[in-house]
Amino acid sequence: MSTLVVVGAQWGDEGKGKVVDALASRADLVARYAGGNNAGHTLVIDGRKIVTHLVPSGCAYPGTLCVLGAGMVLDPDVFQAEVADLQAGGMLQGGELRVSLDAHVIFSYHRALDGLREDRGRAGAKIGTTRRGIGPAYESKAGRRGIRVRDLFDPVRLRARLELNQEFVAPELERLGGGEVRFDVDAELARAAGWAAWLRPLACDAGALIDEAIRAGRRVLIEGAQGALLDLDHGTYPFVTSSTTLAGGACAGLGIGPTAIDKVWGITKAYATRVGAGPFPSRLDGALGDLLRKAGDEYGATTGRPRDCGWLDLPALRYAARCNGLTGLCVTKLDVLATLPEAAVCIGYEGGVAPGVDELEGARPVFAPLEGWGEPDLAARVKAARRLEELPVAVRRYLDRICEFTGVPLALVSVGAGRDQTIFIDEAF
Ligand code: GDP
Repeated sequence: MSTLVVVGAQWGDEGKGKVVDALASRADLVARYAGGNNAGHTLVIDGRKIVTHLVPSGCAYPGTLCVLGAGMVLDPDVFQAEVADLQAGGMLQGGELRVSLDAHVIFSYHRALDGLREDRGRAGAKIGTTRRGIGPAYESKAGRRGIRVRDLFDPVRLRARLELNQEFVAPELERLGGGEVRFDVDAELARAAGWAAWLRPLACDAGALIDEAIRAGRRVLIEGAQGALLDLDHGTYPFVTSSTTLAGGACAGLGIGPTAIDKVWGITKAYATRVGAGPFPSRLDGALGDLLRKAGDEYGATTGRPRDCGWLDLPALRYAARCNGLTGLCVTKLDVLATLPEAAVCIGYEGGVAPGVDELEGARPVFAPLEGWGEPDLAARVKAARRLEELPVAVRRYLDRICEFTGVPLALVSVGAGRDQTIFIDEAF
């Protein structure tokens, strides 16, 4: 077993950074296949907090190759700054970074469009994007006007592509920005020349590289961005991200085939959160929601926005398990849920019929209380556990319930932000 895909099974922010970091210690190569710097992973290494937006979480291990796949969109300025930061922290010292020649590049006009649409778009049409230009960059790609990393190395082609984009984008900038924001081809070209020089040593045929690693029996870890319910095709459309978040997208986004994948793990928090607009039926509006937000420090790693908090939605998780073909579940932040005086889980919706993702808005959840919750030392015992058997009975019962409902066995449990606060049930590779 050498290829493991790890994806978010909720609305993102499930603690993927920590789980992938824990798994990366066992991997030879870690790759990302979708999204851009709208994702944010928080790692805590020796008590130091590190946030990555583009570089896969394997960056903390010397010698582990980190690969950004063709399905990603890349803001070179952000990428360069992030790499400089990680290198200043002692990481990525040995040339462990590669970028696909086919990843698409985010230009300043993508960011400008993103921000202007969020600011000046029609009420109700706002998605709550991170304003980083991700959506517009994917639009350019689907419109076959996108500019890839490889195009940065060919100034003649690059100018032609930028001029083509100018034709499409300038009128919309004019309309939304009232003439304040202009599309300047020469300025874009000048910036791109700097990026090209920096990116050249990193750029490669990432699909071939990963395929070679798999064939050589290397342990390959593939990490998704965001979560299942934000998937462009199968999430709560239109309140979704502009790329695939599902495990199936790993193949398309990297340039390998589905037969190369051995295992798919889905990460879920022991409760649920959502940031941005869109349906979230198990949201808690009162004091318990606030308590959960505070206890779990539920503020966006990328934007700092407070996240809505609620109970774990089991039907939604079962849906994520189906869409991803999950073979294992990773449950994170059990210690956070354990601090609450009471807790519950969503086991269905009123009317008895599980709504489709499109009908989630307005669906009324049915909650079941978690028995045995509220013992004074519950959280301390959870945090201290290093084996499944050491977890309090109430917590183990809750985990059993999650696995039974979704039909997916437990693979990993996280009982704190620290690296050592991880219980492996399945050894991964
Ligand atoms: P990601 O994008 O999926 O990595 O999600 P976030 O950036 O929101 O990271 C989740 C946050 O929770 C980070 O600050 C982690 O260090 C932290 N975290 C991850 N797992 C656990 C856990 O089991 N318990 C606690 N208390 N914190 C955790």
